[in-house]
Amino acid sequence: MIKRALPALAALALAAAATAPALAAYPDKPITIVVPFAAGGPTDKVARDFAEAMRKPLGGATLVIENVGGAGGTLGAGKVAKAAPDGYTLMLFHIGMATTPTMYRKLNYNGLEDFEYLGLINDVPMTLLGRKNLPAKTFPELMKWINDNKGKINLANAGQGSASHLCGLMFQNAIKVDMTTVPYKGTAPAMNDLLGGQVDILCDQTTNTTGQIAAGSVNAYAVTTTKRVNTPVLAKLPTLDEAGLKGFSVSIWHGLYAPKGTPKAVLDRLNAALKDALKDPDFIKRQADLGAVVVTDGRVNMADHKAFVASEAKKWGDVIKAAAQYAD
Ligand code: ASP
Repeated sequence: MIKRALPALAALALAAAATAPALAAYPDKPITIVVPFAAGGPTDKVARDFAEAMRKPLGGATLVIENVGGAGGTLGAGKVAKAAPDGYTLMLFHIGMATTPTMYRKLNYNGLEDFEYLGLINDVPMTLLGRKNLPAKTFPELMKWINDNKGKINLANAGQGSASHLCGLMFQNAIKVDMTTVPYKGTAPAMNDLLGGQVDILCDQTTNTTGQIAAGSVNAYAVTTTKRVNTPVLAKLPTLDEAGLKGFSVSIWHGLYAPKGTPKAVLDRLNAALKDALKDPDFIKRQADLGAVVVTDGRVNMADHKAFVASEAKKWGDVIKAAAQYAD
């Protein structure tokens, strides 16, 4: 019995010896975090701050951001789904993980099956903005302007299934007015066109809009969360619910993902580093200044995060289907 077990034990020991140095050394080269939107936008900004916070817990590792924008984040996600599962390609994506499966008839990846779910990072409100030279300065004035200009209004977004698309869809459905949507590879370029006056309205995360609102370069009408956002710049804005769109509630989250098949020990190392990064006071402060709330441990577990995304996919899937007439 003992004799028979010995070769098996020896094989196990050999296997452990073969993998141990690789894991002990991880990471021994730069880690790429794919952001599936354009540089300079809200997801990109969260990712760059987050990469900084992850550096220390990963032993001073270099984390590089790669922006792969287009099609509401699905081009970047498709790329990561097919990347080598070695811990050197990760993805920081948002609520689009849960909304794109409903928005696209066919994706070249499966959001739930093709990724390892490392955990949630933050919750971020959105803001409803208009170009600066729009005559409407308050939400009631915006509603009047929309009613007077039906059929002529442009609404910018980051493509089907993006956060800005979801918010715009919910807004059109709430006021029962159809607008012409203009898709970009992210809301950084969408914001540029809002600033240039080429598009009329944009709903975007506070991580991208706080600076423009503070500078007075856009009209800001409301926040999309059920509670006001308590930052010096945003506290003055009503919620859309308060402003009259009863029950309006859109809040965006960001999470961290790896390609399916990434070794368990690497995932554990990344999850532990993620938990440490989320306690980094500089990261928490930078996010808080922009209206975002960094999540705490209870919501950062891998299995919990996957279950959360599945529940969000169900929730938003039903809501999106009910608002389908405003979806393009
Ligand atoms: N805010 C964008 C969105 O609407 C994405 C981005 O550019 O970060 O999904």
